[in-house]
Amino acid sequence: DAPRKCTWTEEARKKGAAFPHTEQDWKMNNKIAPNVLNLIGNTPMVELNSIPKKAGLKCKIYAKLEYLNPGGSIKDRIAKRIIEDAEKQGLLKPGMTIIEASSGNTGVGVALVSAIKGYKCIIVMSEKMSNEKVAVMRALGAKLIRTPITADSYSPDGIFGVARRLHKEIPDSLILDQFSNPGNPLAHYDTTAEEILDQCDHKIDVLVVGAGTGGTITGIGRKFREVSPKTKIIGVDPEGSVFAIPDSLNQTNVTFFEVEGLGYDFVPTSLDQTVVDRWVKTNDEESLIMARRLIKEEGLLCGTSSGATVSAAMKVAVDLKEGQNLVVIIPDSIRNYLTKFVSDHWMEARGFQTCENVNNHFWWDY
Ligand code: PMP
Repeated sequence: DAPRKCTWTEEARKKGAAFPHTEQDWKMNNKIAPNVLNLIGNTPMVELNSIPKKAGLKCKIYAKLEYLNPGGSIKDRIAKRIIEDAEKQGLLKPGMTIIEASSGNTGVGVALVSAIKGYKCIIVMSEKMSNEKVAVMRALGAKLIRTPITADSYSPDGIFGVARRLHKEIPDSLILDQFSNPGNPLAHYDTTAEEILDQCDHKIDVLVVGAGTGGTITGIGRKFREVSPKTKIIGVDPEGSVFAIPDSLNQTNVTFFEVEGLGYDFVPTSLDQTVVDRWVKTNDEESLIMARRLIKEEGLLCGTSSGATVSAAMKVAVDLKEGQNLVVIIPDSIRNYLTKFVSDHWMEARGFQTCENVNNHFWWDY
């Protein structure tokens, strides 16, 4: 696949074309995909520059850009996997209704796959999650049911209580249940982990991954246990969530956190805590400020869980040496939060400094 010469520019110039022409070679990477589902996965990886440099880190930090999936997040991978598994198992047939509880990104993925494959789709999501996610799911044709922020996940008003009630009421409906569906971690075991190993030529010392359903860290962690057992797997869990081990790490007065997509008030079946070597707890302030820095300093148009993950990664990376590599996952994008942490006004109203103020005032600068 040699780069192709832009011969037409020379020809145009010979003919006396006055307008400027590029001299750059170009190379076509991909052929036309049959539909957008074929564009899920195979996301790029990029080195972080400014943030590790300012912190004086010796190791390299590489970010896997999952927000470049067609639906805007890592959860496209599992939406496609669990829907296609259900089709193969004969559980999902044309005309059926898919019901799924989600913090939004699986909802977008499921709505996207449903739009292409022609299923009806109902997403149950807490009021905590952004309206931007609602708008995207509605545009994809999904119906949205919001549950109160204060409702426990398993209570009748919570995301699972409501999903189960809808399933009973709606004939020909199916709950995919990403929280217990083996296809969730398997999607990452089969694809995300393989891509990371290939992109880094198997040279990964530390992997830092946030957990929501835990599917990402479980699937990647299991593959790494098998093929790269020396890689340390670090789990990221917000203060106010209960995933970390030892449990003493979870002790806090925090009952609400702004970071979306990470942490719950229960440990899901899809999270295998035994694959995690160490848990790092994160708070909203460090997470939201880091997300803003990733946008401004690295040009990564990411969401809040990316900020939490990179903030945790920085704490781990201070102990790494030159020649070592740390990989982080960037799960979703700025699109989900345009009226939230991306807004200076929103940040200031909650007492968080915006990027302008923090560039030179972060803890590793002192
Ligand atoms: N970040 C975001 C923004 C998410 O939506 C999710 C999914 N809940 C995650 C991270 C965590 O992924 P997982 O469910 O695989 O643990």
